[in-house]
Amino acid sequence: MQRYRVTLIPGDGIGPEVTEAARRIVDASGVPIEWEVCEAGANVFRKGIESGVPLETIESIQRTRLVLKGPLETPVGYGEKSANVTLRKLFETYANIRPVREYPNVTTPYSGRGVDLVVVRENVEDLYAGIEYMQTPGVAQALKLISRKGCEKVVRLAFELARAEGRRSVHCATKANILKLTEGMMKRVFEEVAQDYPDIEAYHIIVDNCAHQLVKRPEQFEVIVTTNMNGDILSDLTSALIGGLGFAPSANIGSEAAIFEAVHGSAPKYAGKNVANPTAVLGSAIMMLRYLGEFEAAELIENALLVTLEEGRVLTGDVVGYDRGASTTAYTEAIIANLGRRPQTVGVRRYNPLRIPRLSRELTWVRPGSRRVVGVDIFVETEQLPEELGPVLEHLAEGTPFRLKMLSNRGTKVYPPTGAMPDYVDHYRCRFLLRHDNGEAGDPDIIELLRRIGAHYRWVHVEKLPEIDGGMGFTKAQGED
Ligand code: NAP
Repeated sequence: MQRYRVTLIPGDGIGPEVTEAARRIVDASGVPIEWEVCEAGANVFRKGIESGVPLETIESIQRTRLVLKGPLETPVGYGEKSANVTLRKLFETYANIRPVREYPNVTTPYSGRGVDLVVVRENVEDLYAGIEYMQTPGVAQALKLISRKGCEKVVRLAFELARAEGRRSVHCATKANILKLTEGMMKRVFEEVAQDYPDIEAYHIIVDNCAHQLVKRPEQFEVIVTTNMNGDILSDLTSALIGGLGFAPSANIGSEAAIFEAVHGSAPKYAGKNVANPTAVLGSAIMMLRYLGEFEAAELIENALLVTLEEGRVLTGDVVGYDRGASTTAYTEAIIANLGRRPQTVGVRRYNPLRIPRLSRELTWVRPGSRRVVGVDIFVETEQLPEELGPVLEHLAEGTPFRLKMLSNRGTKVYPPTGAMPDYVDHYRCRFLLRHDNGEAGDPDIIELLRRIGAHYRWVHVEKLPEIDGGMGFTKAQGED
């Protein structure tokens, strides 16, 4: 029988208790796993390791390519970045799969409606790349980076997951109506990739309506694929539909490694009390077994979990109240005792192996047919009002290839005046376009314009305005014609 090696990170808060429960149940199922127990999280930060992930842990994952982990905390005053995000990014686990299903005896307002869906969240890009700058002392900026390759990987995985789990539809939830280039990229890639999966119904849905529909009629969804931040929020919502974070497992999937963990955090108020619900981490371990192709063991454990919930004699405090709830240990032992039994009223879904898309690891260079720079946005910090700033900039651009097209303040056009009455901050986007439609702005032209503006104002940020394959590679300001 094949022996697997898995890196086990107990983590912080309730982490050690719930991962120990999952490990005991997996061991009891008979799957031979050699656990390499490794550290990450709060104690590691406290030792002065800035990433929260020590080298030995990284080396273990490089060997095993498989992780079962508890939640990690970033203690106040330590570390700039979350150790969770570091792990996801180090091993490029580009998709986060978050399934939820209704459980017997876990009563919610949705009980009886058969909620059974999966959120597939892009896991490394978007605002969670964590690239932030103070533009002025009073204005902060985060970059939302979305790549075609990142979208393609996660969208293909969502369709493959639908096939592997016998699901009929995939929804793609985006904010493409507002963020036409970034969220729009996910929508466009989804529509392209959907052509390769004619057996699966594909729908686009605006993310705010998706949240609304999830609360109103969650049973209409089977798989929802979405960008990182949307997925973070939607998947906490979906976990609440079936009984809360104690029941929500997840898998971080990459081409080279996979990290399995509960959606929940370290729940510090329950730490060390032996009351936390280990189902979410156990569900993550079940996902890990299916990832390994151990379908029988996964089904054995899932059946034992369902029997335990169905009988309802041993339930944790999050389900029946902490005054009456069973301990984490008692619940774990009940599940182990139920290994080999089958539930009466609910069943386990049939799973086929998940085909993980393996896109080339080469640097991806998307080559357009044509491209030119048609202008530049220069962001400046000033206390002037638009009526003062605009004419000065028009004057400064004289004799350059550029003309001032408009000024915007937090995205709303404020010069030339539009009649808008925004509340101004000291951060303007000054949009300069080429005077002649068919030219191209060269770097020396842009640098000369910056030099002139820099002599009068503090400029904080510059963006070239590209035209790609004849289409605008930038968006207009609110109110810009
Ligand atoms: P949290 O730890 O998920 O806890 C929020 C609430 O969810 C708890 O107070 C509890 O609800 C419930 N809960 C979560 N897990 C439970 C379980 N296994 N059994 C029973 N109830 C459970 O979220 P947080 O308080 O926002 O975050 C705490 C720390 O965890 C933070 O440092 C955060 O950064 C970190 N975190 C880590 C990860 C990760 O490692 N992947 C993810 C999220 C957060 P009630 O209060 O209603 O009982």
